[in-house]
Amino acid sequence: MAIDLENPSNFITTRVRQAVNWGRKYSLWPLPFGVACCAIEFMSTVSSYNDISRFGAELVRFSPRQSDLMIIAGTISYKQAPILKTIYAQMAEPKWVIAMGACASSGGFYNNYSTLQGADRVIPVDMYVAGCPPTPENLLYALTQLQERVEKEGLVPAAERHAGRSEARG
Ligand code: SF4
Repeated sequence: MAIDLENPSNFITTRVRQAVNWGRKYSLWPLPFGVACCAIEFMSTVSSYNDISRFGAELVRFSPRQSDLMIIAGTISYKQAPILKTIYAQMAEPKWVIAMGACASSGGFYNNYSTLQGADRVIPVDMYVAGCPPTPENLLYALTQLQERVEKEGLVPAAERHAGRSEARG
């Protein structure tokens, strides 16, 4: 009897999907978009003391093509916004984004002519981390929350996950 691999209720494909999602959850490769002081806390998060490798996310990559988790750490100016968009577009699917800190989430206290009022004005954001700056524990908590979503959502591309939401708030 032929097995219908397209059928989501198929026992075998369901188990394979669960295994893939479990593996993906513990092998996120972060790309730091570090543009201001929050990046210092990111460095602390990946250091031995806070040890992000406990969560399988220690393989920091500076090539977007080798990354599936962008961590935006810092204030984004309007001039940097197109760069952020380009780097995001170059990342491998499925991909996720954490906005680390008040500036990346909402512009923070830089409500002025030069500052983007949150990364989600130009790219979809999956997780926001409060704080100025957030502590490494804040960021690690966000990572574990994101991991739960990764396990549930699996290989769904970012554009599909964010369908129905407005990509840019402004
Ligand atoms: S949230 Fe605070 S610590 Fe982070 S980049 Fe903005 S001003 Fe700096």
